Amino acid sequence: MSNVNEQWAQILEKLKREIPSESYNTWVHTLVPSSLENSKLTLLSPFNFTQLMLQKYNDVIAKTISETVGEIVNFEILYDKDIEEQYKKEQRKKEKQADITNKYDGLKQMQSDCNLNTKYQFDNFIVGEYNKLAYGAAYNVAQGNTKFNPLYIYGGSGLGKTHLMQAIGNYVMLKSKKKVKYITLNDFVNDLIENLFKEEKDSFKKNSNKKDSYKDGVDTNKRMTKFRQKYQNVDVLLIDDIQFIEGKDRTKKEFFNVFEALYQAGKQIVITSDRLPEEIEGIEDRLKTRFEWGLMADIGIPDIETRMKILQQLSEKDNIKLKLDVIELLATVYKNNIRELEGAFNKVCAYCACYGEKPTMEIVKRAIGYNEKSKAINGKIILEETAKFFGLKREDICGKSRSAPIAYARKAAIYVIKELTGESLQSIGNLLGGRKHSTISILYDDIKEDIQYDKKLSDEINTIFNIINQI
Ligand code: ADP
Ligand code: MG
Repeated sequence: MSNVNEQWAQILEKLKREIPSESYNTWVHTLVPSSLENSKLTLLSPFNFTQLMLQKYNDVIAKTISETVGEIVNFEILYDKDIEEQYKKEQRKKEKQADITNKYDGLKQMQSDCNLNTKYQFDNFIVGEYNKLAYGAAYNVAQGNTKFNPLYIYGGSGLGKTHLMQAIGNYVMLKSKKKVKYITLNDFVNDLIENLFKEEKDSFKKNSNKKDSYKDGVDTNKRMTKFRQKYQNVDVLLIDDIQFIEGKDRTKKEFFNVFEALYQAGKQIVITSDRLPEEIEGIEDRLKTRFEWGLMADIGIPDIETRMKILQQLSEKDNIKLKLDVIELLATVYKNNIRELEGAFNKVCAYCACYGEKPTMEIVKRAIGYNEKSKAINGKIILEETAKFFGLKREDICGKSRSAPIAYARKAAIYVIKELTGESLQSIGNLLGGRKHSTISILYDDIKEDIQYDKKLSDEINTIFNIINQI
């Protein structure tokens, strides 16, 4: 059965290029393969006149089928009541969705002006032990509680920081009509640069033409005042991924001014970061102290129950039934990052839709490229093996020594763990005796570069890969 579905998917790909899109979408795309027996492919249609409608494409369809299957194959199209029911159900779902979308278009426009995405809500945020504090604080802030100002949410990548922050914005917009602005630190920097770039051009002109420079200077001041007002005239400012402020002095200064103005005016500030303020390199004390005035809420690693609940929610939303053992498998494989968990779920959906399969255990494993081995390999084993390879002990790599051979092995271990397990840099740091995210990040970037020109190192890494793969 899977064979005929796979072949049909390939046939569809080809027919899409052969048949005009209107006919293709209505008559061909809605066909469902039923059997391929005795050189005959039987296709089921939700409409009882498809055969007629496709008559003029009979030759091209037959040719494409035969080419793909690799022998002469005829085909027949039969009307099927179940397929019709299924088709109607899907249509109704689509119409309902379109209806909801239209209704919220007005609000959506407002939200998009504030850079908010309506898909991030408190309602669809699953709460577990690991994110309870962050959720509680965010919800309080959204309701107007001014106790947690600023609210600083920190945790690894893909763990729901942006979701929570945007949920605050969406909630405030809907309930209070207060002015909200969401911006990533990188967009804030870009906005600033756009203005500063002109400023530099102005100062260059200043030397060559005094009269013009006066006018340009005024323009620049106006522009910068407008820039500041944009961020200072809001009731709730949401700044995402503040860690990227590292090494950007002018941004630090501008951000500090915005922060001060908002804070003095009693406006709410919410900040997210992948680490604590003191772990952001070069951040000034005055900014660090201010971040600590409010509440610091961390998001840890999600427990299995939460991961399973998130999958359940996704499957309900997409109307895909996943059995408990399948949910458990996905939640076990994707531990440290909800974004990756969602990615795996989407892969499963795409695979099933493409091949017309149900998400059984076997299909899901195939869709995510799961093998038993990948489950067994974890950071600890890799550390063990890498240390052994370099004639060291795991404790050496995790310890404090900076001697050249140990530092070399440490970098190699970080690289291999990252590549083979996809663990977050912070969890690799935890594994390596509680090192900071920023430390691991520097080492990882270093070795990625070294590998490109250091043949000995890349050979050694390959050997370690092979050792691990044979475990
Ligand atoms: P971060 O900003 O921490 O990198 P995101 O907020 O972008 O992570 O989350 C990644 C994805 O995982 C998003 O699609 C988000 O909706 C989803 N997600 C994360 N945590 C949860 C949760 N607790 N409940 C439901 N979805 C979640
Ligand atoms: Mg984010």
